[in-house]
Amino acid sequence: VKLGFTGGTFDRADPLRNDAAALAGLIADPRARLMRLTRLEPELDETGGLAWGSLAEAHDDGELVLLGLDETGRPHFACVNPDEAIVTGRAVSLFRVLDRIPAADAAHYAAARSVVDWHMRHRFCAACGTPTETFRAGWGRTCPNCAAVHFPRVDPVVIMLAELGDRVLMGRGPGWPPGRYSALAGFVEPGESIEEAVARETAEETGVRVRDVRYIASQPWPFASSLMIACIAVADDDTIRIDPNELEDAIWVTRDEVRAVLAGEPGPFAAPPPYAIAFNLLTVWAAGG
Ligand SMILES: [Zn+2]
Repeated sequence: VKLGFTGGTFDRADPLRNDAAALAGLIADPRARLMRLTRLEPELDETGGLAWGSLAEAHDDGELVLLGLDETGRPHFACVNPDEAIVTGRAVSLFRVLDRIPAADAAHYAAARSVVDWHMRHRFCAACGTPTETFRAGWGRTCPNCAAVHFPRVDPVVIMLAELGDRVLMGRGPGWPPGRYSALAGFVEPGESIEEAVARETAEETGVRVRDVRYIASQPWPFASSLMIACIAVADDDTIRIDPNELEDAIWVTRDEVRAVLAGEPGPFAAPPPYAIAFNLLTVWAAGG
């Protein structure tokens, strides 16, 4: 199964980011394209892929982010619009779009969304409060007052299944769609390894102790800038004591039940959507991984 938001085809062209002449050349390239974003939502073209305009569509005072070059060397940009307020949440309709657009487009959109969102939230220096300026072709900000440099954030999140023999532990958060259960998840905290975060989050949310954490796959999740790190761990026992602040319910599900649900048959839970890494994680586990 293909991981959602992965498979981007752009060369991110890092060596060009600090090369002012090269960057000016990319911006002046008449083939240059601008991702059409409004309040971080993508516009689609008639084929269902991402819609692109020319740089003439960029806001006069906008800050350009070089997303990368396609296989022909054509530069692709996003623009941070100074007139737009910080976006909180996301449109429900966005997920219907993500179900349909080509995988590479979803990956390019994820990168653009995360970095544009970061710029909107980091207009001021975290060290001294002065308005900051972009550098590195939009992949950082510098402070003209104290010279601090700030880079786009990626927030690691562990997402995990605890297994005990032929069963796996799944949880349900408050407000989720009816019947939906998924892998447990939580942010990695400062001073923690991935393995320690998996064990802590699983114990906090369900009371289940785990060990022997193994890494399966990762996925960018651009709401706002997470990196989902999918793992499977071995549970010591099956006693569940949920934290009601984090979960509404947690259940043990058999491999046969997971296989049935992933095959679209009725089962004890509704599967997470295919663009979410929890779907891939369940698929790996159901296959015996
Ligand atoms: Zn500063």
